[in-house]
Amino acid sequence: MIKQFSKIAVIGAGTMGNGIAHVFAQKGYQVNLADISEEALDRALSTIAKNMDRQIKKELLTEKEKAAALDRINTFVEIKAAVAECDLVVEAATENADLKLHIFKEIDEYAPEHAILASNTSSISITTIGAITNRSEKVIGMHFMNPVPVMKLVEVISGYDTTGEVENQVVALAKDLGKVPVVVQDYPGFVANRILMPMINEAIYTLFEGVAGVEEIDTVMKLGMAHPMGPLQLADFIGLDVCLAILEVLHQGFGQPKYAPCPLLRKMVTAGHLGRKSGKGFYDYSE
Ligand code: NAD
Repeated sequence: MIKQFSKIAVIGAGTMGNGIAHVFAQKGYQVNLADISEEALDRALSTIAKNMDRQIKKELLTEKEKAAALDRINTFVEIKAAVAECDLVVEAATENADLKLHIFKEIDEYAPEHAILASNTSSISITTIGAITNRSEKVIGMHFMNPVPVMKLVEVISGYDTTGEVENQVVALAKDLGKVPVVVQDYPGFVANRILMPMINEAIYTLFEGVAGVEEIDTVMKLGMAHPMGPLQLADFIGLDVCLAILEVLHQGFGQPKYAPCPLLRKMVTAGHLGRKSGKGFYDYSE
């Protein structure tokens, strides 16, 4: 098969950006990885190398393949240079609507006319992002799951103007990466977070109302529902600030009280207890 996409720009080199760069490079695509922070770029490259070592241990990758994949990744501190010759841009910068709109304006200005522009956003409307560009028909959501090299799902989100052809190209690309794409429409939370976040919120309400403790709630869901992680542990893993932001999008977008974030979640975020990344959330990660 002739590859429709050969050069991919990934904007944002954080948790998701490094994973996205990893899977593209491993599958033979040239990757331009961009971030405003040099430190984030350095950290991303060492994380990718470490995660590839883990794949080597599991015999999923060879040393030679690792070296070739790392060779395919170039880093940039400017969007302009990173997107200049790309066929696809996958934006995975911080989840902030104003920031994303600003980034997409810049990407649209400098990416080649044929390039498809994708966002890995968890909750921001793809239609809104598309509308800021001059190519809304080529703007789409490519929602990878964390950790990207491990998780199979890619939620593909079509905005109001996204064409069927662009959707098909992105679906084929996700399959080429070894992922399972699922196409969904652009409504708040898409599918994954529309279902996941109310469950996490309900688990927090269950704790807030004193129905059960943290470990009891997680144990019920792990052993009773065969979830690999309890909802409170998962919330810590995702980041409580991220959970709160997504619930706000659902609450505002649908205008229904059932999505209102639990006051306990809001209080923990205000106190700076954001889960694993801050060292404390529903569980203590200080050790
Ligand atoms: P992160 O905070 O780990 O990384 C974001 C990166 O974006 C940072 O390195 C930051 O320096 C960079 N950045 C900020 N402004 C930039 C700019 N103007 N240009 C280039 N880079 C810039 O965040 P993350 O968890 O990787 O999330 C990234 C995106 O992926 C968000 O939209 C988030 O909603 C989505 N997402 C996250 C997860 C998850 O579990 N973390 C899962 C699915 C989707």
